[in-house]
Amino acid sequence: MATDSERAARVLRTRLGERVSLPGDPGYLAGAGAWNLAFPQRPFAVMGATGEGDIVDAVLAARDAGLRVAPQSTGHAAGALADSDLSDVVMLSLERMREVSVDPGTRVATVAGGSTWGEVVTAAATHGLAALHGSAADVSVVGLALSGGLSFYARESGLTVNSVRSVRVVCADGEVRTASDQENPDLFWALRGGAGGFGVVVSLELELIAVAEVYAGMLLWPVERADAVAEAWAAVTGRAPESATTSLRIMHFPPIPDLPPFLSGRSLVVVDGVIHDDPRIAEALIAPLRRLDPEIDTFALSPVADVLDMHLDPPEPTPVVTAHRMLRAFPEDAVARFVRTGVADSLFILEVRHVGGRAARPTPGGGAVSALSGEYLVLAIAVAPDPTIRSDVETVVHGAVDGFHPWVEDALALTFVDGGADPAAGFGGSLAALREAKRRWDADGILLAAHPV
Ligand SMILES: Cc1cc2nc3c(=O)[nH]c(=O)nc-3n(C[C@H](O)[C@H](O)[C@H](O)COP(=O)(O)OP(=O)(O)OC[C@H]3O[C@@H](n4cnc5c(N)ncnc54)[C@H](O)[C@@H]3O)c2cc1C
Repeated sequence: MATDSERAARVLRTRLGERVSLPGDPGYLAGAGAWNLAFPQRPFAVMGATGEGDIVDAVLAARDAGLRVAPQSTGHAAGALADSDLSDVVMLSLERMREVSVDPGTRVATVAGGSTWGEVVTAAATHGLAALHGSAADVSVVGLALSGGLSFYARESGLTVNSVRSVRVVCADGEVRTASDQENPDLFWALRGGAGGFGVVVSLELELIAVAEVYAGMLLWPVERADAVAEAWAAVTGRAPESATTSLRIMHFPPIPDLPPFLSGRSLVVVDGVIHDDPRIAEALIAPLRRLDPEIDTFALSPVADVLDMHLDPPEPTPVVTAHRMLRAFPEDAVARFVRTGVADSLFILEVRHVGGRAARPTPGGGAVSALSGEYLVLAIAVAPDPTIRSDVETVVHGAVDGFHPWVEDALALTFVDGGADPAAGFGGSLAALREAKRRWDADGILLAAHPV
């Protein structure tokens, strides 16, 4: 007699043909690959969608087979998804659904389900517009935007999720729906935070901001200057207007010939960010940092597209493990803790991002997640080249951010919730209502998100 899993495999094969790959099929391992190499994924099956029809077919076939569906665009959040059992999951890759168009009249970008921020920023910049993108060009729009999203415009313009105007989704029943303030508003509310747990996104509309140039850049010193730089940055952020969103990092780079010489084999302290303000105000704000004689100083009035290159995120898939906390404040003792923890080189990066401002204020009419409480976000990142040492590395990153407990706010930034962390605090006060919405829109729990409700 056929087992449940043999029956499920037969249903998938019959309904989806060669579009689906099962373990042992030639396309399976490549299809199961994710950006984050620290979390090898072994789902029941993988499929790459090329359009809405593929998504509908995949959802209906998975239902009939008694399986679930996990939409994935790039796998930057593979760590969070790895906390769920994937043995009954069809991994549905949106990677090939990439298209962006911009209407300069309405300042709205229409973005296909697997498109990346690099594509949106480039398309918007040709019209003198900017998007509320994250630091990395290769993160997908849907994955960041529907889970909150912190950009270098966040203190002034709020979380990225609030710029989503409508979403076209394939729901758990296989129906294609538009969710917006006008159509299916309760689904629209849930998608803005609940992300892939409420639908596979075919496309979404994103409001852009009318900014062609901003004062932005990076200041870099050898790590020996970490004390002075961290103290100065804390003071700068303490009086920064909401037009300024900056970050402070201690970074340790291995000696790799592919890296530029200013990074290879070096330990550094770096400040970067955007000050969307009069350049004279921006220069006055960062003057105390400039007085510390940085080795590199790229802060200048720059085209908005350059902001994507500023944060030095890895351009290729990388095996990383991360942990973060939100902080109420970043006082002197926290600064000292930051320097002590960051300088000890067990981490790749220890980062503090200045948040607060509009990002911390709930948006009227917003979705399930529309704000992030806390003034600062502290993020520890370590490399786990071999999955067998991953849990040790997780202990290191969690230990690093736990050290900030005296200043911790009871909140998490959903986009930064990685493996081994409970996403509940990322949904804030919306968790109960999101669970209710999940029962309405996906009673059988067909759709699996990296951050499940
Ligand atoms: C190097 C790096 C830099 C980062 N920088 C920032 C930053 O500056 N700001 C910030 O806020 N976050 C940042 N992040 C976190 C990032 O935003 C999240 O990991 C995000 O979820 C990644 O989205 P993705 O689609 O690329 O990843 P994936 O792992 O592919 O997707 C994550 C989740 O998004 C949903 N999803 C993706 N595509 C679809 C779709 N088409 N339909 C339905 N659901 C979908 C699913 O729920 C999926 O589980 C960064 C992460 C990394 C690794």
